[in-house]
Amino acid sequence: MQIRSLHQALGIADDYNDRIGLPLQQEPERLVDAGPDMFDRPQQMTPSTMLAWQGMRDRAASDGITLLLVSAYRGAAYQADVIRRKLDGGRTLEDILRVNAAPGYSEHHTGRALDIATPGDPPLETTFELTAAFAWLSDNADEFGFVLSYPRDSVSAITYEPWHWCFRGD
Ligand SMILES: [Zn+2]
Repeated sequence: MQIRSLHQALGIADDYNDRIGLPLQQEPERLVDAGPDMFDRPQQMTPSTMLAWQGMRDRAASDGITLLLVSAYRGAAYQADVIRRKLDGGRTLEDILRVNAAPGYSEHHTGRALDIATPGDPPLETTFELTAAFAWLSDNADEFGFVLSYPRDSVSAITYEPWHWCFRGD
């Protein structure tokens, strides 16, 4: 992937890698269709991530908890588009990179990271941490191989994201 040219087109400095403290993320060899997300957009993830997600979602449902998929795999070019749209909307690059990883550095490139929401709570907001769904995930997600990637008070350059869970199993 032409990460360097994507960065240059967005004006992202060459030392981003050193400052961010995040690894360059690998795109998966294989993705499978995971059905529509909560906005009816088709989503993809790795085969093992999908099995784990389905198992976790079903177990949550049996506990009375509804887990909704917001977003799964996103490629580097898509990430560049997201950042470009925000730049065009007048936000500064520095401001954007505080909440969006640069192309090549998003965990969503791996097909293993999922953004999760629950009915009655706006997606991708820190209020998610106050929901029963987040409490359930905190207690049970590790059993299915999912880890909260950007916890509160982490040393990562990415801010707290209670909705973002990454499958670290096999
Ligand atoms: Zn995410």
